[in-house]
Amino acid sequence: MPGPTDNLILPFHLASGVFRGRLARAGRVVADTVGPHDYPPVVAQMVGEVVLLGLVLASGLKYEGVFTLQARGDGPIHALVADVTSAGMVRGVARFREEALPKGPVTRPVPELLGRGHLAFTVDQGPNTERYQGIVSLEGDHLSDCVQRYFEQSEQLPTLVKVAAMPPPQGSPADASWGATAMVLQRMPPEVGGKDGEDWDEHWNTATLLMDSLTAEELVNPALTPEDLLRRPFHQEEVRVSPYRPVFFGCRCSRAKVIRTLATFPREEVLELSKDGSVEVTCEFCKATYALTVEELDGQTNGPSGSDKTET
Ligand SMILES: [Zn+2]
Repeated sequence: MPGPTDNLILPFHLASGVFRGRLARAGRVVADTVGPHDYPPVVAQMVGEVVLLGLVLASGLKYEGVFTLQARGDGPIHALVADVTSAGMVRGVARFREEALPKGPVTRPVPELLGRGHLAFTVDQGPNTERYQGIVSLEGDHLSDCVQRYFEQSEQLPTLVKVAAMPPPQGSPADASWGATAMVLQRMPPEVGGKDGEDWDEHWNTATLLMDSLTAEELVNPALTPEDLLRRPFHQEEVRVSPYRPVFFGCRCSRAKVIRTLATFPREEVLELSKDGSVEVTCEFCKATYALTVEELDGQTNGPSGSDKTET
């Protein structure tokens, strides 16, 4: 029976689990993520990639909470963020200086867009838990190169990562889906079912060459199902898939969270933002707008915030 073909994670393995991978397909999610924003095409493309990479990386971790993938640099795009909850809800955003973006073709190497900086992975599992964090410098032409290098250097885990995101063709309805897929394949260490030895080295090289032969056009082609995308390179391998897991776009912002955040700012700064006794705050991820009265905010703040005497 054909399964869903979009907004999912499909775990798979080759060679009886010696090589394990995951495929993330999220065309609708990317459309929903960039939809409320008027991103220049080159920025939208990078948001699509970071969302897909966030999904495919989060799906390899066991956690309860929020996984965040964040690229920061000194280039025209100074931040790209995707966060994924353990329930499969994802959102993403870019911060950038439009006037500094390179003109010309949409696909540009990472150094031109993000400059020098780093890519960080964090898992926040709530208070009183240890925060997992990994970090790698931004090097290579693609974000996927950075991710790959992180696994190879920091985790000594041979890894191949592929990602491609493409907006719907011009003239499509405004809310049309993107073509968007990421794939990761990893060679497991012996303690978890991996195998050492020259034959396995050879097998790994072959498997990665095959997966690397998938083109960006194939990865973004909605006519190819996730299973098709696995069959193409690996038709001579025994590919086993596990049940897919759904993913969806969603934002974690709320009125209560906005109030809590504003309570951490000096009252005078907040009052400067107010107009006619209310403060309007827009979520940078989903563009939801919250209008909060000054009384509502004062009800949340502690200490001397109710007094006008505060001087800083
Ligand atoms: Zn939001």
